Amino acid sequence: MKPLLIVIDGPAGAGKTTVSKTLAARLDYKYIDTGALYRGVAYEILARGLDPADESGLARLLADLDLRFERGADGMRLYSADVDITDYIRTPEITMLASAASAKPIVRQALLDLQRGLGKQKAVVFEGRDMGTVVFPDADVKFFLTADLKVRARRRYEELRGKSNQRLEEVENDMQQRDANDSGRDTAPLKPAPDAVTIDSTDKPIDNVIDEMLTGIREITGQHGA
Ligand code: C5P
Repeated sequence: MKPLLIVIDGPAGAGKTTVSKTLAARLDYKYIDTGALYRGVAYEILARGLDPADESGLARLLADLDLRFERGADGMRLYSADVDITDYIRTPEITMLASAASAKPIVRQALLDLQRGLGKQKAVVFEGRDMGTVVFPDADVKFFLTADLKVRARRRYEELRGKSNQRLEEVENDMQQRDANDSGRDTAPLKPAPDAVTIDSTDKPIDNVIDEMLTGIREITGQHGA
């Protein structure tokens, strides 16, 4: 099969990360978490004590932004200049700041070329919000993975246990706020591409989601004569 560019978009907590990583491993593809890049921008905003509403400060930050992924022993690591920031970008504060910053066109534009560059060689699974609609409108295979808010909040709560003392209601409120930010923004809002295959994982074990995707990939690429 010729190498494909596969994208998986959807709201937080729908299972995108597990599914994207598993799919990439099954196909022997690279896995790129584009949310980490928005989190990297949020990390730098905080590290520099910048007001996210300060557009010229933000422009300066973006002009010398130096984010890159490097393969580590346990998966991809995100570096900002020479600092490995992977372990610092999952806090609730960075999560909400990444969502706010990602609504700014200047931020989205700054990350566009970087993301497209990472897709040049194909053989990659991208996870994000606007992969199928904006970054890679010509992706070979597009999935939109979703699930009910309550189920997504519960999953995220279980993941954060031991790492954060947020209560379930707080996780759900943050998630609802993020859904509203991500879906309601003017630039690249979260929505399925017209040609995406939507999968609802509310009542579906991850293994079934993966099987459904592998079948979808075979059907779509078969159709294209790959
Ligand atoms: O995927 P993750 O939850 O790590 O993403 C963090 C935030 O980055 C999201 O809430 C969203 O606002 C933003 N994001 C985005 N476009 C992407 C990936 C993430 O706007 N492609």
